[in-house]
Order: sequence, then structure tokens, then C-alpha cells
Amino acid sequence: MPDYFIYDNCCGVYNHLQLTNDPLLKVVRFPVDAFHFDCKHKKTDIVCQEHCNPQKFPELINIDGTWYFNSSKCEQLNVWLGGYHAILREMNADRYEFLLDELIMRKNRLLKTKLEHNGCLPGYIPDLRCNS
Ligand SMILES: [Zn+2]
Repeated sequence: MPDYFIYDNCCGVYNHLQLTNDPLLKVVRFPVDAFHFDCKHKKTDIVCQEHCNPQKFPELINIDGTWYFNSSKCEQLNVWLGGYHAILREMNADRYEFLLDELIMRKNRLLKTKLEHNGCLPGYIPDLRCNS
């Protein structure tokens, strides 16, 4: 299991796990995606605010206040991947992983080409030092 499970409706997942006394609650954290938390979750929901508010996980926030993990990009990727849902759900695990890997590599190549065409440096990593 991952250390963090970020989801639009993580408070629903959290509540279910709590009702079923699931041991995952002791090892996995359940922050709601930052975008969804701000516009879809009630300030009066105490469980949500205490256990699923992404601001309560400082380890997910960079020094400059940006999110360490861009869950909005994941949302966009999931929407794109949804277009392949009917194909992927019929596959066994090996074919699923192969096709998913291939789709993502091709998407990344296209995105990298587009960024380079627009004058960006998608391979540039700030502060990366080469010791050779
Ligand atoms: Zn909530």
C-alpha cells in the first residue's frame, strides 16, 4: 500500500475504513485532492477537516508553499486514461501493464516534443548536479 492515498472523496473512504475498523487507517494517510477539498468538502465536516484536509499534511507541501505532489495533474491523466477504460478493463494484468506503459511513454514523448517546440526545457531539473 502507498503511504498516501489521495482521492477526490477520501473522507468517504476514510469513513468507510473507520466503520469497518480497517487496519489501513494506521498505515495509510487519506488527504483529499487539494482542488476538490477547497470546493467540494464542507468546513462543518469534522472528520473530513481533521483527517483528510490536505493542509494537515505538511510533508506534502514544499517550502515555497506549492504541493510536493501535483494531484491535479493526476486528475488530468485519469481523464485521459478514461478514454481507454473499455479496452483496459478487459485485459489480464500483463497486457494491462504493457499497454498502460506503452500509452504513457507515447503520451510523454508527444508532450516532450510539444514542450520543446514551444521553447521549454522539459528535461531540465533545477539544481541537479553532475559529479562526473
Ligand atoms: Zn470531505
